[in-house]
Amino acid sequence: MTNETWGEIRENLLSAVGKNNYVNWIEPLELAGLDGGVATFLVPTNFMGNWVSRNFGDMIQKVLTNAGETVSRVEFSVPNQPKAAAMVPSKEKPKNDALAMTTDDDLPGAPLDSRFNFDTFVVGKPNELAHAAARRVAEGGPVTFNPLFLYGGVGLGKTHLMHAIAWELRKRQSDLRVVYLSAEQFMYRFVQALRDKDMIAFKQLFRSVDVLMIDDVQFIAGKDATQEEFFHTFNALVDQNKQIIVSSDRAPTEIAGIEDRIVSRLQSGLVVDLHPTNYELRLGILQQKVEQFSAQFPNLEIQDGVLEFLAHRISTNVRVLEGALMRLFAFGSLVGREITMELTQDCLADVIRASDRKITVEEIQRKVSDHYNIRLSDLIGPKRVRTFARPRQVAMYLSKQLTSRSLPEIGRRFGGRDHTTVMHGVRKIEELMQQDSQIADDLEMLRRALEA
Ligand code: ADP
Ligand code: MG
Repeated sequence: MTNETWGEIRENLLSAVGKNNYVNWIEPLELAGLDGGVATFLVPTNFMGNWVSRNFGDMIQKVLTNAGETVSRVEFSVPNQPKAAAMVPSKEKPKNDALAMTTDDDLPGAPLDSRFNFDTFVVGKPNELAHAAARRVAEGGPVTFNPLFLYGGVGLGKTHLMHAIAWELRKRQSDLRVVYLSAEQFMYRFVQALRDKDMIAFKQLFRSVDVLMIDDVQFIAGKDATQEEFFHTFNALVDQNKQIIVSSDRAPTEIAGIEDRIVSRLQSGLVVDLHPTNYELRLGILQQKVEQFSAQFPNLEIQDGVLEFLAHRISTNVRVLEGALMRLFAFGSLVGREITMELTQDCLADVIRASDRKITVEEIQRKVSDHYNIRLSDLIGPKRVRTFARPRQVAMYLSKQLTSRSLPEIGRRFGGRDHTTVMHGVRKIEELMQQDSQIADDLEMLRRALEA
């Protein structure tokens, strides 16, 4: 296979990863060779290689396989650079607007989303305390509570608030070393440093920051070595009076599999939770999003009552709410008419029905395995043969459509699979539905059976 062939094959990833990701991460990859089942790509930096490997590695392997190549592994290498230098700071700047101005060049953080700032965060009763605490920390005065521990269910705005703090701090004090990353990325960095025998650099890097933000800290539950390292980093920073901000999907004491000393450390500052949204907050968020969208869709009108209807009916989480509104706008602009109640009900039938009665992933799995006449254990299990893989993707797709579970949560219920695998499955089915009426019919039937 040549780099040119790859140039054609990679286009199959466009719809799966989206335009921005495609331009930032996929297009720059240069195929160096395919040898003994190992496809090697050249990347400008190790950071980029790690990122692509972690987020898109599986997908790349799959498109290559689908194109008829035998690929058992995908590797990334930086030209003229020994492997041991993997902790070198990342220098590349993503081109995407949302990711622009992200990490300081020599800091180990993840990109910040420019839409997640304080201006776009709608405050209501359920999140006012969390918001106030975040504001206080973002002022960057003397450290009063350390750490700030934010917790709450999926899609309630934890990540949004953390990014907002980071943006604000950087705006006020551009020389401040603010690092935001997920606990998973922290672990990934740590494991990599271990592997590359580069722990000193790792420690120095993390101990040199002024503000450290770790998102979704529940991820390190059960991962002992990572916890240990996190604990040391944490203590070193607290000793220097550096601000730490941590988020989690549950309270510190409820995270099973985290050492007691870490739990007590996590609780030692200010612990605030984001409560599930209420009607007023949801309406407020919808109104704000409409304002944002109306720049994109200038001629679109919304009938009175539509937003209220949505705020009533979609009570799961803000992410679902946003997705629904986005779809409504896209649909409205497509058909070129006012967004009426009727259009809303048509266009969002699945979301609205899904929040009527709670369909569970387990129900979906049972129905789908019955339908395809396979065992539930095979549907969830590791076997990759198509007779199981396709129904599995169907079940993942339905879980995404009919429940409010996030991709990682769905992945967990499918034998601990990664969220990218789920995303790939969902996209695959979306694609097949266009081409294969049998699949489209199957899905319609299953959906009706589940919603009955
Ligand atoms: P979490 O990290 O708690 O799972 P996120 O911060 O990723 O949730 O929020 C999910 C989506 O909902 C994001 O697009 C975010 O901007 C939006 N969102 C959540 N809460 C609010 C809010 N109070 N105001 C505006 N947008 C919000
Ligand atoms: Mg989050």
